[in-house]
Amino acid sequence: MSYRPETICVQGGYTPGNGEPRQIPIIQSTTFKYATSEDMGKLFDLEASGYFYTRLQNPTNDYVAAKIAALEGGTAAMLTSSGQAANFFALFNLANCGDHIVCSSSIYGGTFNLIAVTMAKMGIETTFVSPDATEEELHAAFRPNTKAVFGETIANPALTVLDIELFAKAAHDHGVPLIVDNTFATPVGCHPFEWGADIVTHSTTKYMDGHGVAVGGAIVDAGKFDWMAYADKFPGLCTPDESYHGITYAEKFGKEGAFITKCTAQLMRDFGSIQSPQNAFYLNLGLESLHVRMARHCENGQAVAEFLSTHPKVAGVRYCGLPGDPYYALAQKYLPKGSCGVVSFELKGGREAAGIFMRNLKLAAIETHVADARTCCLNPASSTHRQLTDEQLAAAGIPAGLVRLSCGLESKEDLIDDLRQALEAI
Ligand SMILES: *Cc1c(COP(=O)(O)O)cnc(C)c1O
Repeated sequence: MSYRPETICVQGGYTPGNGEPRQIPIIQSTTFKYATSEDMGKLFDLEASGYFYTRLQNPTNDYVAAKIAALEGGTAAMLTSSGQAANFFALFNLANCGDHIVCSSSIYGGTFNLIAVTMAKMGIETTFVSPDATEEELHAAFRPNTKAVFGETIANPALTVLDIELFAKAAHDHGVPLIVDNTFATPVGCHPFEWGADIVTHSTTKYMDGHGVAVGGAIVDAGKFDWMAYADKFPGLCTPDESYHGITYAEKFGKEGAFITKCTAQLMRDFGSIQSPQNAFYLNLGLESLHVRMARHCENGQAVAEFLSTHPKVAGVRYCGLPGDPYYALAQKYLPKGSCGVVSFELKGGREAAGIFMRNLKLAAIETHVADARTCCLNPASSTHRQLTDEQLAAAGIPAGLVRLSCGLESKEDLIDDLRQALEAI
């Protein structure tokens, strides 16, 4: 029986048997016991499924991963220690030294560094394309050694909306999968798989946790990409893995399981970026109310964006739920239930006005975080981007007076009152 997202948020991934714990048990154990070496050998050969060492798999994590897979409509999923690890694993599971990636230029700064700096040092080159690229511009970015396309449903912090269908079509025309970081939209707001994405990643640190308690990540496979049809491009999935008893993942686990099994058996084995079972438990508590919280985050984001857009001290607002926003049409298509609680706006008085404004806020705390229950804000010019001059900031599309506000779950009237009094102080 298939359930609606609201039900999956609450009950997906774990169904206790008679007399078993109602809540997901935290299996706080590094290792698991077997009666015979033969039993354990079958696990190492991936002949039987089961647990032997938490660096590879842990039952608590698997319950939560199964819930996220169900929420996204995927066939397999895994948790990672952070969103950074999720994006690195998703890309490195496909691209090796000498390979190439096509990536939207409108992505999270940490992911940009990972791809443009660290993965470049590993010999993986990337062509960045505008999130607004046309089909022809996208096609021009591909090379024979391109192995994946990457973008964010709603980009952090630029708040651009990815044309998932267009990017997926370009990827598939070149025989490679589209990986979408669905962190800001969450599966409550958007199902990238329905629009052609093949792999979805998450920083579960944001809305999925939603309470600012645990850093984490997740990778989900739609189970649709036919690796064997492009076997020459993906030897890691389509030829025997000598480091894993000669298994050919795409043959043994099919489209549904090959990607996540390889990612676990090779990358988690070698890099060890596992999420702790305790954090997976916290993450699950967040997921239980994700559908209820996202509706409120979106409602507050929309109300705050509308208030700011008419305020005389505000030069401009970026929120894809505003009819004047350049991404309004894409948001109507991909995010019909609302986008997220993050709103960007520029104050007319630049860096100084932003300083006064933020000093006077009472509810919105100054934090580098986004997407949790408590409203928070950041002025990139005086924090994350403080090494840049006003001119450099303008060139990077981040005006000195820009404030990124992450609307929490408080009363929208209180949030607006707080913003109003802080704006009056400028
Ligand atoms: C925060 C974030 C990441 C990185 O996740 P961490 O959990 O901080 O490692 C990746 N992608 C997006 C869109 C993010 O917002």
